[in-house]
Amino acid sequence: MAPREETQFDSSPLYRTAIQQLDGAAKRLGLDAGIHERLRYPRRALVVSVPTVMDDGRTEVFIGYRVHHNTILGPTKGGIRYHPAVSLGEVSALAMLMSWKCSLMGLPYGGAKGGVACDPGPMSQRELERMTRRYTAEVMLLIGPDLDIPAPDLGTNEQTMAWIMDTYAMTQGRTVPGVVTGKPLLVGGSAGRREATGRGLVYVISQAAREARLDLKDASIAIQGYGNVGSVVAHLLWREGSKVIAVADAKGGVVNTRGLDIGALWNHAREADTVAGFAGGEPLEGDDLLELPCDVLVPAALGGQITSKNADRIRARIVAEGANGPTTPEADAILAEHGVLVIPDILANAGGVVVSYFEWVQGLQYYFWRESEINSRLQELIIRAFNQVLTLARRDGVDLRTAALMLGIRRVADGFKIRGFYP
Ligand code: NAD
Repeated sequence: MAPREETQFDSSPLYRTAIQQLDGAAKRLGLDAGIHERLRYPRRALVVSVPTVMDDGRTEVFIGYRVHHNTILGPTKGGIRYHPAVSLGEVSALAMLMSWKCSLMGLPYGGAKGGVACDPGPMSQRELERMTRRYTAEVMLLIGPDLDIPAPDLGTNEQTMAWIMDTYAMTQGRTVPGVVTGKPLLVGGSAGRREATGRGLVYVISQAAREARLDLKDASIAIQGYGNVGSVVAHLLWREGSKVIAVADAKGGVVNTRGLDIGALWNHAREADTVAGFAGGEPLEGDDLLELPCDVLVPAALGGQITSKNADRIRARIVAEGANGPTTPEADAILAEHGVLVIPDILANAGGVVVSYFEWVQGLQYYFWRESEINSRLQELIIRAFNQVLTLARRDGVDLRTAALMLGIRRVADGFKIRGFYP
């Protein structure tokens, strides 16, 4: 295939990583050149201005995005991110990863992603609500229950989803629960959705630990990020008896090699809005958490955290990627050389989209399931995918990421082959 020309998406390192991963898997799969080329780009991308009246009367204009990578297996699905680094390239890369993730999990979805370049931390609830409603109005063309179904991601939560659903519903004159997932329970959310990504991670970590002959009851765990994903992983593993030795968020971290009291940390974080300053451990500086000796490292914050600069110093046996794209391809190679088992993002953090799928199905039918049913169906799907990935990795002598990408990409490519290119 001819060398690829630089596009407007390439300014994002995550996009370049996503292309590198796609190209590697495509080569191993012997993918048709036309389908491979198509998969490198989004099907459609919308860039919008989001003028927002701030509480002091000023109007700030934020830039927002919504990207659909492909619609070959069904409507698109993917989160909405509020973060200063959100860009067209980053959102497009994340939409592509969502395609592989949904496909790997056997869900009837293509990948999508959206976001607004903003810092939600200092914004008031009223400002966030105005920005969210205007963003929703701007991307209305691209979302809908059988078109594209957003969900929470970095910097967004259940409340954000409720505002999006309400804004959409106002234009339709009726309630439309299927337009977003990750909603509050009272307005059509699913039992278990809030914990789903963290719970899914714990299911795959348990399975990987079994493969690595590691007893999770004695294992030491370090977690970067204490938001929706990181806090749930910390809680569930702590309840299983593991020693969570370190946790960090954007404001700082805390370490205790004898194990943190996660119940007490939870209360501290709720009051202080950070894990930093927790009295049950020592303060931890910046990225030091990643390099602590531990059995399982869970990056559950931002992309691009484990790179060629620090991969040499990672001393975990297992890296379970809660975040999307936390490891660069160069770091992947170094970790593999050191015998670190990396459970890739599209497998490790797929619990969120699996339960989002359950929420969507429940919303379309107005029939809601018990949390125990949701958790056991999630466990079944994610462990089945883990075992398929492990089997292929062993058969072809590749790492888990390559195997997961091969499985995810192959199903999408087969869909293109069956449907053909229009016209
Ligand atoms: P969140 O906004 O709830 O939490 C993010 C956490 O990361 C916060 O604790 C924040 O303080 C911390 N953080 C930010 N910058 C940091 C830094 N430099 N060092 C350490 N910590 C930092 O977000 P979330 O929903 O928990 O998502 C976290 C990651 O998981 C993202 O990469 C997201 O794409 C991915 N993910 C989320 C879901 C989901 O269902 N929420 C599903 C799949 C993947």
